[in-house]
Amino acid sequence: MRMAFSETVLRLFELQVLMRARESLAEELPEAVREALKPGYRKCRSLVRALRLRLLTGNGVHCPICDWKGTRFIAGKWRPMSICPQCASDIRHRLLMASFIYVPQFRSASFLLGKDILHFAPERHLQPFFRRVARKYATADLERADMDRRLDISNMPTVHTESYDLVVACDVLEHVQDDQSALKEIHRVLKPRGTAVLTVPQKDNLRVTLEDPTITTPAGREKAFGEHNHLRIYGADFPLRVASAGFAVDTIGETSFSQSLVRRHVLRPVECSQHPLATNHRKIFFCRKRPRPEA
Ligand SMILES: [Zn+2]
Repeated sequence: MRMAFSETVLRLFELQVLMRARESLAEELPEAVREALKPGYRKCRSLVRALRLRLLTGNGVHCPICDWKGTRFIAGKWRPMSICPQCASDIRHRLLMASFIYVPQFRSASFLLGKDILHFAPERHLQPFFRRVARKYATADLERADMDRRLDISNMPTVHTESYDLVVACDVLEHVQDDQSALKEIHRVLKPRGTAVLTVPQKDNLRVTLEDPTITTPAGREKAFGEHNHLRIYGADFPLRVASAGFAVDTIGETSFSQSLVRRHVLRPVECSQHPLATNHRKIFFCRKRPRPEA
């Protein structure tokens, strides 16, 4: 059944209002009521998604992860026009996929095909790609039950030394109490010349990573580090911290691609966030394992 454009906009608006109301009430509602509302909420979300996709039909931008094309991406928490409305990829995810497509050194055919991959806090939209190219692919998380392995990235006694070619951890280390131990463990479980693919939030123009173990409340952490569950905010010294754990680090960012690819896949913000803790220019760190210096 065809729906008039104005009616589509109206439906989208109504559904958005309903969803916002449910989100703002969520904390107040008893668990049983929340559970009862879940199916309706999910239906609303998929309707909003379908309507959005319809409204954004076009060919201005392209998501290299799900192949969606449209007039523009949609707003995320930090900045407008940055999230793919189909798969929810953000700039850092598209930068990662663009590396696998366009950067000769990291092309998936040679860099990923047939490899053993361990993926922490795996993004739903990246999992099918890794599953397709890997020889062995395992998802991992400390808390989520739907993972192949329940692992603490800073202490993985159940993972054999030198067992993976690739460890992927996008925006994980800022949640980890002891990130140096995490880097040591990643180094240990990687095969010789294996690679860790890492991303972290790095506040614009911050030189040295900011940590303060006396800040322990969610509100304090949000104020100091940008999110309620972040334990630090990294600066430009992040690759040096990784290198000191025994890695050779290659950094891929928006300047690694042509202007037309940056615009097409939106690999940098269309509008930068003005938030003082924002990371506007994302980077992907490809960290190749080197022998660790003797302690
Ligand atoms: Zn997408």
